[in-house]
Amino acid sequence: GKNGVPVAENFRLEQSTIADTIQVGQVRVRTLYLSVDPYMRCRMNEDTGSDYLLPWQLSEVADGGGIGVVEESKHDNLAKGDFVTSFKWPWQTVAILDGSLLQKLVPQLVNGRLSYFLGAAGITGLTALLGIREKGHVAVGANQTMVVSGAAGACGSLAGQIGRLEGCSRVVGIAGTDEKCSILVQEMGFDAAINYKKGNVAEQLRELCPGGVDVYFDNVGGDISDTVISQMNQNSHIILCGQISQYNKDVPYPPPLPPDIEKIRKERNITRERFLVLNYMDKQEASVLQLCQWIQEGKLKVRETVVEGLANIGAAFQSMMNGGNIGKQIVSVSK
Ligand code: NAP
Repeated sequence: GKNGVPVAENFRLEQSTIADTIQVGQVRVRTLYLSVDPYMRCRMNEDTGSDYLLPWQLSEVADGGGIGVVEESKHDNLAKGDFVTSFKWPWQTVAILDGSLLQKLVPQLVNGRLSYFLGAAGITGLTALLGIREKGHVAVGANQTMVVSGAAGACGSLAGQIGRLEGCSRVVGIAGTDEKCSILVQEMGFDAAINYKKGNVAEQLRELCPGGVDVYFDNVGGDISDTVISQMNQNSHIILCGQISQYNKDVPYPPPLPPDIEKIRKERNITRERFLVLNYMDKQEASVLQLCQWIQEGKLKVRETVVEGLANIGAAFQSMMNGGNIGKQIVSVSK
């Protein structure tokens, strides 16, 4: 419901049986990895606020991004042993799925790290890359400073690195713990990182971005974003990726900026267009190949927080919503 904080107890695990036989066109799959993501919070409202997202129904099996292995196939293009993925993977250990809704995966593209297809080489990586390319106006040699909020999360940690690869000369992250900040700087090549739970964010940002902010990759919204926007330059760009600080509140998406911040935005001609990765799926194939190439070359450092067991998926979701993850939150369902 609206204005509620999601907890592990919102989910329950049930044992049940699936059919012994599959129909023509179907496959039986064993689940390997499931993804928990902030957008799922919107699926816990009666109205998700978006036409592309359906609410989860009470007492029905939840679903989301998943990866599994085909154990039996009656679909022409899929065979036993194939690795497959879908955005609508049921949260089950074993499932019978329509083969035409599955995409086949090539594990070699990610050095065998299959779960990357839910993160850096999947929707998360696409969000970071296409968000920057479609809304960031980043150009090589333009001496731009990028700030990323939610910077140690799945999208944010990639966005900062991709911002650099695409041409930003300075990248500063904002995240919720000192450990996250240190990983951003030492492993992921951010120039600096601010722990927003400590000290004064506005002051630190002024020190770390002396030339102002040219590109803001916004994952969180709320006070952090108001502070960043106040320090943005004339004709700069916000990549409106997400607003996680607002997802438990009863507000429209994207939430309007407070009047004083909206005034700054207008006066400085700062763009803040809604970005939705699903609108750019024509670029999926080429972009995934680009992400995989960067991963193989070691140019994109990937972090995952892996929780074991389907029984713990509710706890994994709760933890991710509360900042318990570094990089992509994955649930491993292999046993
Ligand atoms: P994520 O960043 O890996 O996980 C969520 C993180 O948000 C937490 O680790 C936490 O880190 C931070 N957070 C939680 N509550 C916060 C608050 N009140 N204020 C500031 N930070 C808070 O998740 P993700 O999958 O990468 O998603 C990031 C954003 O991208 C979300 O807003 C999501 O909706 C959006 N998204 C958009 C698209 C699109 O097409 N536009 C696609 C995918 C995802 P801290 O420790 O730093 O607080």
